[in-house]
Amino acid sequence: MTRIPISDCKCPYCGIQFESAPTRKKKKCPSCSQYVYARRVVSDWQFYLVTEDEVHPIEDEWRAHFLRFWIGAK
Ligand SMILES: [Zn+2]
Repeated sequence: MTRIPISDCKCPYCGIQFESAPTRKKKKCPSCSQYVYARRVVSDWQFYLVTEDEVHPIEDEWRAHFLRFWIGAK
């Protein structure tokens, strides 16, 4: 899996350096034309730039996280 810390500001597909980090949730890479997503990760609460394939696992982690929270709160 490819997760680039948002401070590194690089494309997770081709590694090209972006001029600025994507401010929106989705950005098209000017070099490889793939969509790059900015997502917060459960494990360390930092933002990462990830590939399209990585979006779903991250959302699953969030779902599992909230499920544990609700079960634990009872
Ligand atoms: Zn790229």
